[in-house]
Amino acid sequence: MQPFELITVDTIQDAVKAQSSSPTAQQGAPIRYIAGGTNLVDYMKLNVEAPRQLVDINGLDLGKIEPLPGGGLRIGALARNSAVAYDETVKQQYPVLSLAILSGASTQLRNMATTAGNLLQKTRCVYYRDTAYGCNKRQPGTGCSAIGGHNRMMAILGTSETCIASNPSDQNVALAALEATIHVTGAKGERSIPIAQFYLLPGDTPDRETVLQPGDLITHVTVPALPAGAKSFYLKLRDRASYEFALASAAVVVKQSGGRIEFVRVAMGGVGTVPWRSHEAEKALQGKVATPANFRAAADAALRGARPQTQNGFKVELAKRCLTHALAEVTRQA
Ligand code: SF4
Repeated sequence: MQPFELITVDTIQDAVKAQSSSPTAQQGAPIRYIAGGTNLVDYMKLNVEAPRQLVDINGLDLGKIEPLPGGGLRIGALARNSAVAYDETVKQQYPVLSLAILSGASTQLRNMATTAGNLLQKTRCVYYRDTAYGCNKRQPGTGCSAIGGHNRMMAILGTSETCIASNPSDQNVALAALEATIHVTGAKGERSIPIAQFYLLPGDTPDRETVLQPGDLITHVTVPALPAGAKSFYLKLRDRASYEFALASAAVVVKQSGGRIEFVRVAMGGVGTVPWRSHEAEKALQGKVATPANFRAAADAALRGARPQTQNGFKVELAKRCLTHALAEVTRQA
């Protein structure tokens, strides 16, 4: 690990000011915020990240989880993943989020990891983690070793010629289905970013993963109220039962009325370069009766644009079955 300076801040303004002098908020930023450190410290040990300064934001009052007056939920950036997963409102009103968080990592990691840190969780691509290999995300212009290499875990949706890394988070898939909004304070003030606009597809610049600018500090996430009677569910398929990343996952929110699907939100994990909202699946399900055939049609629609690599073609069918099962479960509850 490279030497670094650790500074602590007491106010959001001081934090923003400290990170604003970084030339980037993306890969390789020389000044970084740190809270739980469950992801960043890993990469510092591997010399994938080598910031010269860490801004410790653990002292900021950003850990609360609070119902919003008009319905919905406000989750502080520093709320630990375990606190969110076991929050009563989350368990009652947004079980998809609780299930997603509890399906990820280990108890110890969830006790440390924060909501905002999880939003910025880096890929688990093995080449990204190993500086002996070329990786456009870690070092632009050095090539993508996963294309034609070990790519079993990689994405099949939203990929580009320069990067096929999958987004590893479970939390973010649930937040995509819940249409969360990410609230940021930056050098130019506050702004709110719908999660659908927060992540960037790799394109030609896979080192840029989000729309965050230097100084931007995520302060909280809001989740809107769901329609009365809506049910939600998260299903994750992986190589082993715990402490493993998704091969495919599905976050679904469904409300049925009069025997038909009146409201539906679908997002998928393990298959996309970003948390993958599937409007195609939602369109296929809207107004339909909850039947296996309609679920399968939605799953076919969701994966229609899949571009598998040499080792991950199995994900196409796996993801379809994952979504089909998730829809069957959530509509059984309704
Ligand atoms: Fe790097 Fe992306 Fe290629 Fe993995 S898939 S080696 S992260 S460029």
